[in-house]
Amino acid sequence: MNLQNFQSIKEQLNQFEHETKKRIELIAVSKKHSIDKIQHLIRAGQKNFGENYAQEGIEKIKSINNPEVSWHYIGPIQSNKASLIGTYFDWIHSIDRLKVYEKIKNQAELIDKKINFLVQVNISGEDTKSGLNISNLDDFLINIDTKSSHLIFRGVMAIPSNTNNEVQLSSEFKLMQTTFDNLKQKFSSVDTLSMGMSNDYLLALGYGATMVRIGSKIFGERA
Ligand SMILES: *Cc1c(COP(=O)(O)O)cnc(C)c1O
Repeated sequence: MNLQNFQSIKEQLNQFEHETKKRIELIAVSKKHSIDKIQHLIRAGQKNFGENYAQEGIEKIKSINNPEVSWHYIGPIQSNKASLIGTYFDWIHSIDRLKVYEKIKNQAELIDKKINFLVQVNISGEDTKSGLNISNLDDFLINIDTKSSHLIFRGVMAIPSNTNNEVQLSSEFKLMQTTFDNLKQKFSSVDTLSMGMSNDYLLALGYGATMVRIGSKIFGERA
């Protein structure tokens, strides 16, 4: 595997951290890529990986079995897979309904595990995408236990519209930035804004992203 893109992304992020004095976390999105490639990246120093599919992700987590690695679940969650996802993943970026939240929280308590979670917000308005409508966010938060020591509320995640239009993307990122800033005021555990992928992470950083999720630019095109 060619690590050139990975190294140059790392340099960009280091540079950005240096200039802004903020921490940026890189999530290497390894869905549909082999365990060999993931191991290669782990040896190059990468510690955070993102997966979209429960079964595929869990197979990789079990097989790699490395306590130094953090696994991020970033895909849609079927409620019958929620407990399983909670058992294996360290971070869950895509909680968008109470039923799934409750199942994961129960599982975290049952096995006495700490899981970090983000609420996925639908900013694109496209109804094919998962995520909570932004106008329902406050209602959702009233119904969750933001003080839980097992399922910890860390912030919000978004996937923007599928477009290259920078004006459109910027307005969506800006809305997320405002939402994130408001949540930080209200909840002391909130410190994470997960947005930005291969084609738009530099733009997302300009709007306060603290985690970027990059797949194809690191691993190449997916099979
Ligand atoms: C696949 C995926 C990514 C990575 O996308 P790339 O364009 O390959 O960087 C990021 N976030 C989510 C939620 C994804 O499903």
